[in-house]
Amino acid sequence: MKIIDDVYALDSTKGNYAYLISGDETIMVDSGRPGQGKGILSELDSLGVKPMDVNDILLTHHDIDHIGNAAMLQQATGATVWASKEDIPYIYGDVSRPGIKRFFSFIMRAKKPENIKSYGSEGVDHVEVISSPGHTPGHVCLLYKDVLFAGDLVRSSKVELSTPPSFMNVDDNAVMESIKKLDSYSFNWVCPAHGEPVKRDGLWERLLED
Ligand SMILES: [Zn+2]
Repeated sequence: MKIIDDVYALDSTKGNYAYLISGDETIMVDSGRPGQGKGILSELDSLGVKPMDVNDILLTHHDIDHIGNAAMLQQATGATVWASKEDIPYIYGDVSRPGIKRFFSFIMRAKKPENIKSYGSEGVDHVEVISSPGHTPGHVCLLYKDVLFAGDLVRSSKVELSTPPSFMNVDDNAVMESIKKLDSYSFNWVCPAHGEPVKRDGLWERLLED
């Protein structure tokens, strides 16, 4: 599904969307849940993107439904995998995921990508990396042109944005602080993992009214 000229939501990952930026550089945002890798590669092919074209895979956070195919796609494409320094230990399995996420990581096993690079302050290519902790310790949102890739900071339904349930967040207060921080950024599209991409249209502001 095309969002703007060079940004696509990958339909093969519906339910936990990964996204494609097909600009000067070819970049994936997140990688879906385990088992979706083949579907992602064939969808990329249908969009005219060959595996070797993918330069970078940017992970918003360590959850299994976001890192699920990072290893498979890293092998298939040779892309560099990026994540925050706070979340990398969870991806490698050096630190256990908390609460119910430990259970999820047992029922949905994900291969681990190698040589994950940690985000610096300069972003990656033309993508700005914005630290937005709360859902996980090192959750980031990614900003490209007027599109905000929100990861799991927020999710969408047809009429509103909302935050994930408390038991999915490590720190609800930090989630709200991150939402406040993002409010000062300029973007027209909100692309969450869960729910459909939506126009901002005051929805972000409404999150702050509750
Ligand atoms: Zn998720």
